[in-house]
Amino acid sequence: MKVGIIRCMQTEDYCPGTTDFKMIREKKGGFENIKEDIEIVGFINCGGCPGKKAVL
Ligand code: SF4
Repeated sequence: MKVGIIRCMQTEDYCPGTTDFKMIREKKGGFENIKEDIEIVGFINCGGCPGKKAVL
C-alpha cells in the first residue's frame, strides 16, 4: 500500500509528524488491519486554511 500524508500547515513548525511515521511503521490506529507493506510516498502540508492545496 502506498500512503501520502497531507498535514496541517498551522502545526508544521513544531510538529515533525513523528507519530504519523510511527503509527505506519507499527501498523496501529487506522493502519491496524493492513497486512501488506506500507510505503510512504509523500508528506506535504495542506497549504493553509481552508486546506488550499489539499485537493491539488
Ligand atoms: S485547513 Fe487549516 S486547520 Fe485544517 S489542516 Fe489545514 S492549516 Fe490545519
